[in-house]
Amino acid sequence: MDSRKKFVTDSNIFYSGIPFQTTSDYVYYVTPVIQEEINHIKRRIDGFNLLITSGKVIIHELDINIFSMVRQKCVDLGQMELSKADCSVIALSLQLHMPILSTDYALANVAKYFSINILTPGKKNFVIKKTTKYCSICKIFFDLKSSFCNRCGNSLVLKKESIR
Ligand SMILES: [Zn+2]
Repeated sequence: MDSRKKFVTDSNIFYSGIPFQTTSDYVYYVTPVIQEEINHIKRRIDGFNLLITSGKVIIHELDINIFSMVRQKCVDLGQMELSKADCSVIALSLQLHMPILSTDYALANVAKYFSINILTPGKKNFVIKKTTKYCSICKIFFDLKSSFCNRCGNSLVLKKESIR
């Protein structure tokens, strides 16, 4: 039996470097939209392609019907700020019946409406609740000591990273 832990993975998880550090027991499923996002970060390209080659990252096509349903439901819920990438993550999670791995607060909020399990990387069970610094442009969390985003240089703001 396949005992590996599988997640549908948001791009912010790759910015944090976690998939580069975990063992082969963890498999990260990624939508083509998220793959596109990640490939825009030049310094990560080599590492990301290596993860695909080694089978730790699997690019999975979306069922267009599920994706359309998710987008429509986000509109119905008034969650217009949710990006195409966010919706693709939710859709693939529904499609493959896997939890989502993400640090995005807005995404976690909407995922609740779909009864999707969202995991946030942390010390235990991948779940943490704490105050962190946050870049509103890149949607990445940093530790409290950081003042500026190391990707875009934006000033970081305090943000509660509460998921459940
Ligand atoms: Zn930034």
